[in-house]
Amino acid sequence: MNTVIRMSRLYAPTLKEAPAEAELASHVLLLRAGMIRKNAAGIYTFLPLGQRVLRKVEQIVREEMDAIGSQEIMMPALQPAELWHESGRWDDYGPELMRLLDRHDRGFCLGPTHEELITSIVRNELRSYKDLPRSLYQIQVKFRDEIRPRFGLLRSREFIMKDAYSFHVDQDSLQEHYDEMSGAYGRICERCGLEYRPVDADSGQIGGSVSTEYMALAENGEADLVYCDCGFAADVEAATGRIEVVPSVDTGIELVHTPDIPTIAKLAEFMGVPEKATVKALSGKDGDGNVIVLFIPGDHELNDIKACSVIPGFDLLTDEEMVEAGLVKGFMGPVGLPEGVKVYADESLKASPFWLVGANKVDYHYKGARLDEDFSVDVWADLCEIRYEDGCPRCGKPLAHARGIEVSQVFQLGTKYSEAMGATYMAENGEEKPFVMGCYGVGVSRTVAAIVEQYNDEFGIQWPVSVAPYEVAVLPLVTGDGLVEPVAERIASELASAGIETVIDDRPERAGIKFNDADLYGWPYQVVCGKRGVKNGNVELKVRATNEKLDVAIDEVVDMLVSRIKEERARYTHEAVMD
Ligand code: ATP
Ligand code: MG
Repeated sequence: MNTVIRMSRLYAPTLKEAPAEAELASHVLLLRAGMIRKNAAGIYTFLPLGQRVLRKVEQIVREEMDAIGSQEIMMPALQPAELWHESGRWDDYGPELMRLLDRHDRGFCLGPTHEELITSIVRNELRSYKDLPRSLYQIQVKFRDEIRPRFGLLRSREFIMKDAYSFHVDQDSLQEHYDEMSGAYGRICERCGLEYRPVDADSGQIGGSVSTEYMALAENGEADLVYCDCGFAADVEAATGRIEVVPSVDTGIELVHTPDIPTIAKLAEFMGVPEKATVKALSGKDGDGNVIVLFIPGDHELNDIKACSVIPGFDLLTDEEMVEAGLVKGFMGPVGLPEGVKVYADESLKASPFWLVGANKVDYHYKGARLDEDFSVDVWADLCEIRYEDGCPRCGKPLAHARGIEVSQVFQLGTKYSEAMGATYMAENGEEKPFVMGCYGVGVSRTVAAIVEQYNDEFGIQWPVSVAPYEVAVLPLVTGDGLVEPVAERIASELASAGIETVIDDRPERAGIKFNDADLYGWPYQVVCGKRGVKNGNVELKVRATNEKLDVAIDEVVDMLVSRIKEERARYTHEAVMD
């Protein structure tokens, strides 16, 4: 049985206006509805209503972790620097790591993540293949000194994360748990009411590491996504598209004088072909300083992240370096390059046997340069930034795009930490082997904000029942009278007795204030008790998700709400989303 929560006692101070720095709906509304308060840049207090939402999200996460056999632990936020030296991340992590000294001048950090700590625990205790696999998780505060903390709970410096770590004898065992985790992560999003897409976080065939990010779709999300009905979804930055290229005319190689043509657009216009029929050249160098020329379709841009993963240490050449290397800026092409220059080209260009491309000579291009006859390509690779017009890499259909908020991520770590930190077990054949590891993170506090991004209107928040701070608010529009107040009190207490999370707005405030606040707080259901209605035996039931209002008989409203809310709760349980 629940007790009725009285608004006159609740610590949930609302604000008429949010501070100017709050731009996104979630930031504005969580502040205005008195759910969070800012203490410093990127540092927030959860007030009672915000804390209840956080707890509900945590509980969903906990149930899904328990359901796949991960076990809850609690590690310290404060971590000794030595562990981070062992993994090499004390230096690699950069200024995001919050570092401090204790009274003996020993180094510590406030954990931004816990791979080192958990590995240091299990390496002394999980000794044999018989002890594996194991999966452990915690729900805890994390610290990251973000360069730009912003958007309230979306990018803060202290935040709540669920982080899980798993230890396996081999890749197969890791894959099995990774798949279970992926299932759980999808269910967590669903149970929070989020519209989401799992997105491949590796960069196609070049990425190597296996990882999936769970993106809550939101207009104001920081991530730019492309997706397709066939189930494909990827971050624009990492996506591989099916790029359509058009070969330039099949005349054989022909040198063309192209003066005053500084851009691809001008070149295409001059030749009377679309931009995608041209080939763009860029020059760079690898980590050892070797000169490289890269070719991509003229209507695309080079993706630096992809270039760096294909060519370790990749950097573009400066104008001076180009001159030194004998390259002709603005007119580079694959025919007649200086000796020793390595040629990379985007895979899409394989489909184009004739290229319209620079001639390595000022003011000249080649039309119809023949691939594999006039020139050859040393390395074919995925190098382009995807464009929305590109086709889905799986099925070729046009891609859709959307913005998203990364709420969680699953990651196959392999033996990175176990090798660096000497965390080994005894294999069946007696060999000492490093654990094969996975790690999995849910941004719990970020999820709260992502939910608000998806569930709001101009009046306030519209919480899904599964995470609402309370499910029903009863609003007596008159207080202290002998008619309305007793009816409202009775409805509230019957709802609470039936297990519904109920608040009553017993404040001696005007009706308008109660309506506005109720909409702002986002209670899924409001039971409005006015004088006229009550006299006629009715109350008004408002459904916040749709703002629809119904007149309901006083005698029926409790039963109606109880069955409606129980039905809604049931839709968001573990069993319901298991399919
Ligand atoms: P981002 O790319 O957004 O900085 P990340 O990829 O570095 O996040 P992870 O290390 O994957 O984050 O952490 C797991 C989860 O923790 C993220 O999916 C996200 O939901 C949450 N998270 C990470 N950084 C923050 C932050 N500064 N504020 C709130 N939540 C965060
Ligand atoms: Mg991440």
